[in-house]
Amino acid sequence: MNLRVGLDIGGTKIAALAVDQAGNPRGSAVRPTDAATPDRLISGVVDIVDLVLQDAGLPRSALVSAGIGIPGQIEPVNGTVSHAVNLNLREPYPLRATLQKALGIPVVLENDVRAAAWGAYHWACASESLKSLAYLSIGTGIAAGLILDGHLYRGAHGMAGEIGHIPMDSDGPRCSCGSFGCLEALAAGPAVAARAAESLRGSGLSTYEVYKLAATNPQAGRVVAQTAGYLSRAVLLLLMAYDVEKVVIGGGVSRAGEAFEQPLRQAMADLRSHSPLVASMMPDNKVVIISPDYNAGVMGAVYLAPDRSPEARQEDNEKREDSRLLTV
Ligand SMILES: [Zn+2]
Repeated sequence: MNLRVGLDIGGTKIAALAVDQAGNPRGSAVRPTDAATPDRLISGVVDIVDLVLQDAGLPRSALVSAGIGIPGQIEPVNGTVSHAVNLNLREPYPLRATLQKALGIPVVLENDVRAAAWGAYHWACASESLKSLAYLSIGTGIAAGLILDGHLYRGAHGMAGEIGHIPMDSDGPRCSCGSFGCLEALAAGPAVAARAAESLRGSGLSTYEVYKLAATNPQAGRVVAQTAGYLSRAVLLLLMAYDVEKVVIGGGVSRAGEAFEQPLRQAMADLRSHSPLVASMMPDNKVVIISPDYNAGVMGAVYLAPDRSPEARQEDNEKREDSRLLTV
């Protein structure tokens, strides 16, 4: 039995799933994140991996690799993590090396949105063959992940797709990054709730409640329509910058369902109505909302985990070395 485990480490919880070599899910677990210190985070990861194995009824020796999505900037060569503010990992921290030592298996680390993009790509490819895709995650933050020519595109610094920090309105609110009027500061979940609180006079509604209220309350409707306007431009930005075949939208806010999707489709139609170029680049069917039942973050992490055991890889390397010697 060769098990791979995928983990999605968030600021509040860690979700994990193990699959066998045929790709069948064998065990899963969810736990609250404890990131008070790096040591506590590491032992939390080890604990959840043990829980998944318990759920699968299989021993540690069945595990061949792990893929892990984490909210931070990953240095791909040495596996250090920086700017993972939610996890208290600010300095470049050698997370991959530490986890590999703690788990005793190869670990692939990826930024959480990039990992989810990889999951979304597999989800979308189940219904049609695609070579390129942008995944736009809208939750407490906004970011995108890109699949170009069938490969996850990270960029020179692992930051490709961080479009949440593109300023869209210089008079807009201050963003956590320091700039003003970033897409994230205007259209992520907390921004929707904050604007609704302003126009509904301290309503204290959650983002989800604002979306649900939009159909019957004009102020909430305006906030949602304005947000959809920003998001439609973000979708167009991804299509114009990368000319991808599909834009898949996910993240917590997209789970508001029809209340989220309908205003976005309307805003995209408005952009199309002014420009044949936009109409050709952003037809309605190019944009899909990911199924709320599909956990793109965890699935992407699973697909990123190497599917060969270290022994099998060693054998491969030896064979390659032999054939190289033979051809000399
Ligand atoms: Zn920003």
